[in-house]
Amino acid sequence: MNHVETRLLEVVNPDGLHARPAAMLAGALSGLDAVVTLENPRTGTPPVALTGPTSILLLAARQGDTLAATARGVDARAALDALDTLLRAGFGETLDAAAPPLPGPLGVSPGRAVGPVVQMPPPLTEPPARPSDPAREADRIAAAGAAVAADLLDRASRVEGAAREILEASALLATDAGLLASATAIAGEGAEHAVWVAVTGLAESLAAQGGRMAERVSDVHDLRNRLVARLLGRPVPGVPHPQAPFVLVARDLAPADTALLDASTCLALVTEQGGPTSHTAIIARSLGIPAIVAAAGALDIAEGTIVLVDGTTGRLEQNPGLVQIQRAEAVAVFTGTGSTSDGHRVQLLANIGSAGDLAAAVDANAEGVGLFRTEFCFLDRETAPTVDEQVAAYRPAFAAFPGRRVIVRTLDAGGDKPLAFVTDPAEENPALGMRGIRTSVRHPRLLDDQLRAIALAAAAEKAIVGVMAPMVATVDEAERFATACARHGLARSGVMIETLSAALLAREITAAVSFTSLGTNDLGQYAMAADRMLGGLAALSDPWQPAVLRLVAMSAAAATAAGKPIGVCGEAAADPLLAAVLVGLGAGSLSMAAPAIAAVAETLGRHTLDQCERAAAAATAAPTAAQARAAVVSILG
Ligand code: PEP
Ligand code: MG
Repeated sequence: MNHVETRLLEVVNPDGLHARPAAMLAGALSGLDAVVTLENPRTGTPPVALTGPTSILLLAARQGDTLAATARGVDARAALDALDTLLRAGFGETLDAAAPPLPGPLGVSPGRAVGPVVQMPPPLTEPPARPSDPAREADRIAAAGAAVAADLLDRASRVEGAAREILEASALLATDAGLLASATAIAGEGAEHAVWVAVTGLAESLAAQGGRMAERVSDVHDLRNRLVARLLGRPVPGVPHPQAPFVLVARDLAPADTALLDASTCLALVTEQGGPTSHTAIIARSLGIPAIVAAAGALDIAEGTIVLVDGTTGRLEQNPGLVQIQRAEAVAVFTGTGSTSDGHRVQLLANIGSAGDLAAAVDANAEGVGLFRTEFCFLDRETAPTVDEQVAAYRPAFAAFPGRRVIVRTLDAGGDKPLAFVTDPAEENPALGMRGIRTSVRHPRLLDDQLRAIALAAAAEKAIVGVMAPMVATVDEAERFATACARHGLARSGVMIETLSAALLAREITAAVSFTSLGTNDLGQYAMAADRMLGGLAALSDPWQPAVLRLVAMSAAAATAAGKPIGVCGEAAADPLLAAVLVGLGAGSLSMAAPAIAAVAETLGRHTLDQCERAAAAATAAPTAAQARAAVVSILG
């Protein structure tokens, strides 16, 4: 007799299913009459048959993953018991040798939101076969197909373009005669099981055809899950789409889930697992929605409960009072003067590169411009802009901030910002190539023309204009730049500290110029040897990395000792808690994407300089980025 058993198995050992646990799992099945398949809903990879250790590695299972196991055969139950025992025992790995658990919950994407909880439905696994009346089950299959098709058509009517076409195609498939016939043929095993097997079979044959056919596999799996969820009377797996705004709570979110998130209705994200560099954190920050990770117990919060999510501090509160709700919903507005709660002044400036950024900077009441990325004005040019063209490009920014600081960065061409008229496309390592100030060695005229244009534009407007050079690595470069600026009557000349070399030489480089500005995006890239463009290296590109913070601390100490201003204009300045750390390290100005200014101002305004300094000391002393963040949350949270 063919027994089928299904079970959810949790991976508890710190290192997940690497080679040794995989071999132990495969070995546990020897001698048993059972075929086991495992699926890892987190990675979304197709189910793998447990035929040997290699197949298990395909699951990419890590600590905290819940695997869906299906066993078939006389010894189905014994097989799952054996696997369960090994997994629960953590394969004999010392469980407490794991990295110290994150002191959750942890805010990973700033901002506050209040809304009703919507729990991410649990993943579906193959429903077991159960002998049933074939005629009745065939009716249930047809009814489920019709209901799912109607639902998909309703969704299709509310969207446009490619999304609409995909939903309409799925609706057609839900009532496809051939597909329904293959499910109905095995309806005697229960409608849920029959639909699962029939639609999975279709997906497998599409996958085998490759190419465009294979691209439909995830749509077909989605249809299968909808049909089976309908038959089981359970919510459809995947990111829910309620009409009203909601706070999404999940164990963890996979890239495939978050890609479908609609930031206009999803107010905030809360996950039980994950860390500051998890996919949830990255996507939440890019969508600008508050997020908390490592929130133990979040999955137990009842659907519909009103929660307050503070993604800056990591606070998660159920049924908050009216006063807290009003405070959370109050839109932070920057009054135009940044300071800590005890009055220590911190200039809050905007980063700009386009007319849109400039308008946003004015809207946000920015105190000025801390980084004008001039290369963004000329991204589509085939030939170098003339002096007149450049004057026309710079004047609007100066005109928007009369009497205020506007720091213009000379062209940072190359690396992640190639300019056709100057960047050599054949460079093998553009990030280590002819970028930033190095361009002026090969094209001295370009720097000269730009400084002339900046000086002319500055003379025509009332802004307090400074100039700074990107990608400086040597003291010579800093000195030559300051001399060139002085030749054009530009007295306020500075350099960015964004190479490892510049941070290590901060004392000498600071002496050569009138100010420095920390470019934490590149400083992180070069300090961590991690390409800033690679999403897969996001954990290394995290500005909370203590190595980066210690370089910032060194540079700030050099500026303080020399009595010269230092600011931060990399992404780090836009993270409210990190902004407080940067102030504690000695940054006198923070420049960021304009929409971030209000939240940064609000956080600084709630803490004293002394608290910022204590947070800075704790963050730089921490051994890991996660611990740096957690230490700061415990001081400022
Ligand atoms: C930086 O590197 O941090 C920076 C502000 O410059 P960009 O991002 O333009 O390279
Ligand atoms: Mg840079």
